[in-house]
Amino acid sequence: MSSCCSTDLDANAQPCAQCGTTGPVVGHEIVQPHRSDVDGGNWQHCSTLGCPVVYYLDTDVVTADHVRTQVGHKALDKPTPVCFCFSHTRDDLATDLAASAGVSSIKLAIKAAVADGFCACEHLNPTKKCCLADVHRTLKSIAAT
Ligand SMILES: [Zn+2]
Repeated sequence: MSSCCSTDLDANAQPCAQCGTTGPVVGHEIVQPHRSDVDGGNWQHCSTLGCPVVYYLDTDVVTADHVRTQVGHKALDKPTPVCFCFSHTRDDLATDLAASAGVSSIKLAIKAAVADGFCACEHLNPTKKCCLADVHRTLKSIAAT
């Protein structure tokens, strides 16, 4: 689990077209929950406060209006996800837990994604921490109710 959250600035990183700040490369897996037509590319996350761009790839952008859940400190009127990287909410986890007899497939999917390096919690999660601990805690609290 120590390999989690090691996304670094990439040599191919481009500045955000809106604010000009170069954000971390997060890949397309993280963008897919928000935009189903995204199927590849070195997407980047813009973490500039006040910039509407959440993810961008060249001139293609996903803004705070388009994301499903709150991402970092953007789109504050959206539901707060438990996992910021893959936009899973508490409701998603509850549904998943009920549908899979107590073994969360979302947690397994997050673990696999983290192992593959598709995790950018330190950029997307406002607490800058890996979300697996929060996912685990939320699953426990859902199971207890
Ligand atoms: Zn920006």
